[in-house]
Amino acid sequence: MKYCQICGGEKVEIHHIIFRSEASYLANLPINFKYLCFKCHRGKKSPHFSKEVDFKFKRELQDKLYNIFKGKKYYGEEDIKNLLNISISEVLRVVNPLKIYKEGYYIEDIILRLLGGRLYLEPYEVEIKNLMEKFM
Ligand SMILES: [Zn+2]
Ligand SMILES: [Zn+2]
Repeated sequence: MKYCQICGGEKVEIHHIIFRSEASYLANLPINFKYLCFKCHRGKKSPHFSKEVDFKFKRELQDKLYNIFKGKKYYGEEDIKNLLNISISEVLRVVNPLKIYKEGYYIEDIILRLLGGRLYLEPYEVEIKNLMEKFM
């Protein structure tokens, strides 16, 4: 039995951290699931109501992905299958539009794709990024 990942309540629903409307190819990936009770899923402090909560969940997913994919810059389809514990057909849906290099798929491309096509940065990180781009 699953409990709400926020309040511990019973009767949970599956929330897709990256919404199905944002990336339908992530709809069946467990890493994109969050189990929430009705109130935490649809109430005032829920990701469907509060932009801050939505951002927080997405940022947590981003951090999790950077933890899973670390140590290497490139990953093959088998690597991704094992790291995410998903079927090869799900892997192929994810990597389908990505450029494949001779070493495999590039880590940043994989993570971006698993986040629905964008990164979730805090305002200070956006500033740093802009500064770096300016001086490079
Ligand atoms: Zn709850
Ligand atoms: Zn939801």
